[in-house]
Amino acid sequence: MHKLPITNKLGFYEIRMASIGGFGANVAGKMLAEAGVLKQGYNGSNFSSYGSEKKGSPVSAFVRFCAPDVNVRVNAPVTEPHMLVIFLEAIAKLPGMLSGVTEETTVILNTHMDVDTARDYLGLAAGTLVVVDAMKIAVEEKTRVNTALLGTMAAVSGFLSQDALKEMMRETFGKKYPQTVPANIKTFERGSSEYVSKKFAYDGKYSKTPFTRSGQKLGYLNQPIGGVIPAAGNSMFKDLSASRSGYVPVLNRGKCTSCGECDITCPDYCFEWQEQTGKKGKPEMVLQKLNYQYCKGCLRCVLICKFEALTTHVEYEVKKSVIDNGYVNDIKEIA
Ligand code: SF4
Ligand code: SF4
Repeated sequence: MHKLPITNKLGFYEIRMASIGGFGANVAGKMLAEAGVLKQGYNGSNFSSYGSEKKGSPVSAFVRFCAPDVNVRVNAPVTEPHMLVIFLEAIAKLPGMLSGVTEETTVILNTHMDVDTARDYLGLAAGTLVVVDAMKIAVEEKTRVNTALLGTMAAVSGFLSQDALKEMMRETFGKKYPQTVPANIKTFERGSSEYVSKKFAYDGKYSKTPFTRSGQKLGYLNQPIGGVIPAAGNSMFKDLSASRSGYVPVLNRGKCTSCGECDITCPDYCFEWQEQTGKKGKPEMVLQKLNYQYCKGCLRCVLICKFEALTTHVEYEVKKSVIDNGYVNDIKEIA
């Protein structure tokens, strides 16, 4: 067992992972903690924090490690992480994302940006920034970003054993989905080698982001009575595109019969319809397009469509005009 490279005054090395539902942060935190405790002999703990269990909702996972003779008596969110892992670019600029980050923190960002651009994007005052295109790796290996990021975490941590994590992955995935083990191991190995790391000292370019506990906005003096929504219709701006994990459905109107199965199945009302006059002169609803602003890429609509009018595609291979239009008339128009 390696000595922990750095600890806080309670003796913990602390990790915070920021993600959204569907990216596997919860499982990653669990595997990481189990590998460290059961395979490497540290003491430690892990828990996740999330709201409704659905794709696209915010998820945080927290992991603590300490020496075997230190008791774990803290079970609170990690506020000053030694390692911060941001599972997707789209959430990287959310308020408080860098809260508690110091010069001693290693920030891992899943991005296709180079490390200097990523620093400017984040507004990182100081710390070690690691960039890895985990999404590209996951799409190519047909896995999820979590195992690629676990590989990067192990490689840059200085104490997490890659062998222990691989063993834990074999046990975790092997129980339910043994066929996915080789691809996940390959994803992990690519994550542990395909990253770029750079240390930034405080140079005054960006301000420090000390941890602050925000106060409660609503209380007994100003809470609207009885669950009233004072800003009605606020979800019309909801943009779920950040939650897509690399794949999108594409609607081929040439094959669509407007049967409506996809509309019933889609949890986010992505399909847009228009009333038209049918062949018998009667009005009928015809599917027009798919609105990608609300599409989180769950692909349930593809599974339900028995006419193969909806098909799965890698998002970055689909032409922007197709995403803007929301449909194709022929599958050849996609790329
Ligand atoms: S399920 Fe398929 S055929 Fe039916 S409306 Fe949706 S896209 Fe069209
Ligand atoms: S993938 Fe299909 S079912 Fe899922 S949110 Fe997008 S349009 Fe709706």
